[in-house]
Amino acid sequence: MIPTCPDCNQSMEEGFLLDETYGNRNPVYWVGEPPEKSIWTGLKLKEKDIRRVQAYRCPSCGLLKFYAHEPRS
Ligand SMILES: [Zn+2]
Repeated sequence: MIPTCPDCNQSMEEGFLLDETYGNRNPVYWVGEPPEKSIWTGLKLKEKDIRRVQAYRCPSCGLLKFYAHEPRS
């Protein structure tokens, strides 16, 4: 199911958000809780609901739409 841009009425392209911190390439995830700082890891992760972020982009205006259906594997 490919979303359509609400402004241009065009089919959007699937992609994802990339984190390249410290030269590592990682996808960005959605986490089902507000961010809470940790001295050890940067952020605490209590919640088990962590999902892959699918980012759709409009080829015409560049608008992004995000979905988080699939659990992180
Ligand atoms: Zn558009």
